[in-house]
Amino acid sequence: MRWVSAACLVTGIACAPVAPAPKQPAPLPPTTRPIASPATPPTAPPQPLGADADRLEADLRFIAKPRPPGSPHHDRVRRRCVEQLEQAGLVVEEQAFATGTNVIGRRQGLVHESVVLSAHYDHIPGCSGADDNATGVAVVLEAARQLAARAHHRSLIVACWDDEERGLNGSMAYAERARERDEPIAVAVSLDGIGVASSEPGSQRLPPGFEAMFPNEIEALVANELRADFIALVGDTPSEPMMRAIESAAAAIELPTQTAVLGIVAKVALRDAHRSDHASFWLHGYPALIVSDSAEFRYDRYHCGAGDDDLTQIDRAFLTKVATAVIRGTDAVLNQHESLD
Ligand SMILES: [Zn+2]
Repeated sequence: MRWVSAACLVTGIACAPVAPAPKQPAPLPPTTRPIASPATPPTAPPQPLGADADRLEADLRFIAKPRPPGSPHHDRVRRRCVEQLEQAGLVVEEQAFATGTNVIGRRQGLVHESVVLSAHYDHIPGCSGADDNATGVAVVLEAARQLAARAHHRSLIVACWDDEERGLNGSMAYAERARERDEPIAVAVSLDGIGVASSEPGSQRLPPGFEAMFPNEIEALVANELRADFIALVGDTPSEPMMRAIESAAAAIELPTQTAVLGIVAKVALRDAHRSDHASFWLHGYPALIVSDSAEFRYDRYHCGAGDDDLTQIDRAFLTKVATAVIRGTDAVLNQHESLD
C-alpha cells in the first residue's frame, strides 16, 4: 500500500508519482460487515493518579531511623532524595546553606510559576521519626514519580528540606532565596507528619486558640466524637485553591479532611500554625499550607514523647489515601491557569 503524505493531500501539491485512487469495494450489507479493527489501537486512557503502597512502604522503611543532621543516616536519606527525584526525571539541585542541604527537584511546565510540594527529611536525635517525617518524605518522592510523568501548565518543584527541627532552617533558606530572585510560586505545600490516625472517640485533641477561631470546624469534630480519623489542611487564604483541590480529591476516596483557612488575624494568633516549613513561605510572602495529622494533638509518640515514633504506629491505609489525595490535588493545581495572587 502506498502512503500519501498528509501535506500532499492538504496543499494539493503533486507528490509524484501519484497513483490513481484505488476503486473502493462496495460496502458489505450490514449483517455481514466484519467488525472493523481500527488502523491504530486506541490510546490507553492515562492511568489515574494514585499512590503505590509498596513504593511508599519501601521509602518509609529506608527513612524511618534516627537521622539527626550530621549523622550517617541523615546523609543516606539526603542521597535517597537525590536519587529518587533524579529517577523520576526531575532536574535536581542540592542547595547548601549554613546548617544543612536541601534537595530540590524541578520540572518546567508551560509557565514559570510553580507549585512547591515538600517535606523535611531531618529529625531530632535518638528518635526514628517515622511519622515525623518519614511519611512526608515518602509521599513527596511518590508524588514526584507520578507527577513528573505528566505534562502540566505550571512548573513542579518537589523538595526535601533539611534542618526543620532546629528552626525551619532549610525551607527558610529556600524561601528567602526565592524571594530574592522573585521566583513566582503559586503555592507551597508542606507535608509534615501524615501517617497517624485513629477512629477511637476522643482520640483528637485541639490546639490552643483553635476553638475560638474555628467554631464551625470544632462543631464538626465534636459531632464526630473527636475522632482522629481525618487529615488536617491548614493554610492562608491565598492557598485555599490548593486546600480545596486536596479536599475534593480526598472526598472522592472517602478520606475525611478538616480544613482551616487562616485569615490575617488567625495566621498571626495561632502559634501552632507556624510550626512547619510552610511558615517560611508565609514569611516571604508566598501562599502556603501544611498537610498534617496534627502531631501531638493526636499522637503521644510525637518526638518520641511516649515511646519511639516508629513504623508500628503508622496507619498504612490512611497514609496511602493521604498520598493519593495530595498527588491528585497537586496535579489539579499544576493545571490551573489563573494566578492565585
Ligand atoms: Zn516535622
